[in-house]
Amino acid sequence: MYKVKDPIDVTHMLSPCQKILLFVEEQYMSDSIELLEATIEQNIPFQLFTNKQPILSHLVTNRLKEIESNTYITMFWKNEINILLANQKIGTKLFIFGSWKMVNKLKRAALNQGFTNEDLYGIGYGEKEKNVYCIKCSKLNHMYEQINEIMCEQCQSTLNVSNHYSSRIDAYLGYLVI
Ligand SMILES: [Zn+2]
Repeated sequence: MYKVKDPIDVTHMLSPCQKILLFVEEQYMSDSIELLEATIEQNIPFQLFTNKQPILSHLVTNRLKEIESNTYITMFWKNEINILLANQKIGTKLFIFGSWKMVNKLKRAALNQGFTNEDLYGIGYGEKEKNVYCIKCSKLNHMYEQINEIMCEQCQSTLNVSNHYSSRIDAYLGYLVI
């Protein structure tokens, strides 16, 4: 059912690293534990954000209690995220475990705040959505990976999904099929 990326190499990803921001959807918390424990072991400051109070191992729970700066927030796409991201020092890395939608949203927000792709690790779950930009009416259509042709939701044009990706609008260009 779920598509999970290759297992992550925690040690490699943690060096060099000054601080970690970890965003985890509660149902994927168990997949992030290894990373969380390695972070604690290496004494790397971190903040954990999740949509629900997670159930964690004792080691993690005890450590979380010691860290005052640790925050739980209930939504990932509030304005606070941009403020949070904008105020991070160089060397901060982002780890995201969640639906592709959430991963992409947070990555985009981070890139807008000056993070580079090397600072961002996203483990996406579920079906991967992509956006297709209609060159006729500018509508962003949402679709799943494997389809080559779609009908624009807005102007009903048949669009050929190209390989031309624009990171500015996070979408593939959809050309008109004549
Ligand atoms: Zn259209």
